[in-house]
Amino acid sequence: MEHKNTKQRYNLPDEVVFCKKCTISNQRPRITFDENGICSACNFAEFKKNKIDWTEREKELMALLDRFRRDDGRYDVVVPCSGGKDAAYIAHELKHKYGMNPLTVTWAPHLYTDIGFQNLHNMIRVGDLANILGTPPGKTHKKLTKLFFEILGDPFQPFIYGQANFPLQVAVQHQIPLIMYGENGEVEYGGDMKNAFKPTRDYKSDQKTHYFSGVGPEDLIKYGVSEKDLVPYMPPADDALDALKTEIHFYGYYKKWVPQENYYYCVENTGFQANPVRSEGTYSKYASLDDKIDGFHYYLAHIKFGLGRCTSDTAHEIRDGHITREEGVALVNKFDGEFPAKYFQTFLEYCDITEEYFWEVIDSWRAEHLWTRVDGEWKLRHKISDGKVSDQVA
Ligand SMILES: [Zn+2]
Repeated sequence: MEHKNTKQRYNLPDEVVFCKKCTISNQRPRITFDENGICSACNFAEFKKNKIDWTEREKELMALLDRFRRDDGRYDVVVPCSGGKDAAYIAHELKHKYGMNPLTVTWAPHLYTDIGFQNLHNMIRVGDLANILGTPPGKTHKKLTKLFFEILGDPFQPFIYGQANFPLQVAVQHQIPLIMYGENGEVEYGGDMKNAFKPTRDYKSDQKTHYFSGVGPEDLIKYGVSEKDLVPYMPPADDALDALKTEIHFYGYYKKWVPQENYYYCVENTGFQANPVRSEGTYSKYASLDDKIDGFHYYLAHIKFGLGRCTSDTAHEIRDGHITREEGVALVNKFDGEFPAKYFQTFLEYCDITEEYFWEVIDSWRAEHLWTRVDGEWKLRHKISDGKVSDQVA
């Protein structure tokens, strides 16, 4: 299979450099580092800790909600939501603390895990929240999953389309102009910082580069996907969103965003349950639990950028002050890039591919400057260290 030139495609720097404060490296697309070797996400976390007046920000939130709150019984805010802890926290707080009438909107995972489905159900029942679930047709979704595994090295892409566009569709159908997302991932986790100091996101610009890795659903026609099949993945027309005066806001701009605290809030208020066992590739039990496929999304990130699920979990927790960098490095060296074996057969059956073909695709996405073959086994050339030993291993 033809190699995908991962380095060139994502414009990855030749030399791997790790942030001095967290565990992320300069291989994360669009991340920037300052002259002291600190990543943009760490600098932003520091800024949030010291420079933001959260009482002021809450006042801004209340002014925003006053502008959109309805007293005629209609829904007044869309909260896109997988059933996970973050959106459940937002929707519950909007309803029970700020007196809004939220409609939670869920785009179904490829294959629900039991715990993911239970958490969605609990959010509705225990959290007392209305919900609309969008589910694309099964065969089309499988076909797209396989396609994206091959052409983008990310089987999760069809999910990402729906996650971004289905809430917009529902907003138009129900004439709800306010959409509230959780964190601005681009800003919080390292990426393009141009939106760091504003609460909103434009639904027209940046969607394709920041969320869709440069490939929008409309581009799939050339891969033989029919317009009919693409309907569930498409955004509503711009003029429909303009007419509604749609605004997309981030709750993380108004309220201090600490995933671990969202978790405790949801255990208390929306019946949220963590996994009894840690997720493969990391040590955590409460993030991204809904989809049997998502382990492969994280695994491919490890193949393409050398950054797995444990790197992103530890980077967040270091920035939130829950663990030290030294602890983070130890966890990364233990868990990052662990193969998601639990649902491997499920994934092969879902995509209708053989194990041999799976590895061909994986190897075609292996970033050439990051991986080397030693005694028939693929190894990362670089390894994060806690500063006590050399960063170079090969
Ligand atoms: Zn950092």
